[in-house]
Amino acid sequence: SETPTSNCEEEKIFVSIRVRPLNDRERWRRDASEWECISGNTIRYKNGPTDGYTFDRVYGEKSSTQQVYEQGIKEIVLSVVSGINCSVFAYGQTSSGKTYTMKGITEYAIDDIYDYIEKQHGRDYIMKFSAMEIYNEAVKDLLTANSPPLRLLDDPEKGTIVERLTEETLTERSHLQELLSTCAAHRTTEETAMNETSSRSHQILRLTVESNPTDYVGTTRSGTLIASVNFVDLAGSERASQALSAGTRLREGSHINRSLLTLGTVIRKLSKERNGHIPYRDSKLTRILQNSLGGNARTAIICTISPARSQVEQSKNTLLFAATAK
Ligand code: ADP
Ligand code: MG
Repeated sequence: SETPTSNCEEEKIFVSIRVRPLNDRERWRRDASEWECISGNTIRYKNGPTDGYTFDRVYGEKSSTQQVYEQGIKEIVLSVVSGINCSVFAYGQTSSGKTYTMKGITEYAIDDIYDYIEKQHGRDYIMKFSAMEIYNEAVKDLLTANSPPLRLLDDPEKGTIVERLTEETLTERSHLQELLSTCAAHRTTEETAMNETSSRSHQILRLTVESNPTDYVGTTRSGTLIASVNFVDLAGSERASQALSAGTRLREGSHINRSLLTLGTVIRKLSKERNGHIPYRDSKLTRILQNSLGGNARTAIICTISPARSQVEQSKNTLLFAATAK
């Protein structure tokens, strides 16, 4: 099959790190906070010999999600209104703050997209929302209760599409809030049924923005702009982290999450090997996101870490992964 190649000479992946505060349990155990941000883009392990790790942005324990959003992510997600596909990922071990961070980011982004659209004259906008979960390489619709596994199909124009995925056309902002609650509920139900689901599944929330000139009368759609922004809350990286930071290939029968490992390979290839084969087709996650990763798309990754001493090895692995994406 045809293999797309990367084309990201100027389009680097935007990589930020966020350290969450110590939680009550960690404080109670007298676990200590091991990381300090020594500038806006350098983070350092307090007891280590290292000078620190440098990224596009780093955020310490006192940071707000709004800061994480405003400095870099906002500009990337708003490019969706200009017809540019984009995606924002949260990567990190379970309980490092991925879901907390992505929930806020998604809300700020959606608010800004609505604000932008409401101020535009001369274009009419249509927004659509869909949501899915990937668990054990099975794709489910988060807008449907008890969704069966959905198939992926290759469309000559649109690329990979998820068959029978619900796509809601949005009306006012409150409608989207309702849909977000529906998704959260569908994901939570799963959690109680199977405890580990949330740490092993990926969630993709997708907003598609289409616009046409208001005075549009012809039959050709030359002035149409259409693009999607994807908010991706990844599975916990703990099982895959060593393989990911070392760039190991997935072995058959491995317990490591295929979508997570393939994403790691795709990201590494996009940022380091600018014209090699990009294995998008090796996992469901990367197939679904192919048009929003690499090429002309814009990508941001927020890597979340725990501050705790007991988690230092995992945090280092996360930073090593983040370094491969830079
Ligand atoms: P993950 O999705 O990576 O497993 P969560 O987002 O569920 O982790 O975060 C684990 C816990 O820590 C949750 O109770 C969450 O509310 C809390 N938490 C995470 N990040 C922050 C933060 N930056 N500030 C305050 N609490 C946080
Ligand atoms: Mg989570």
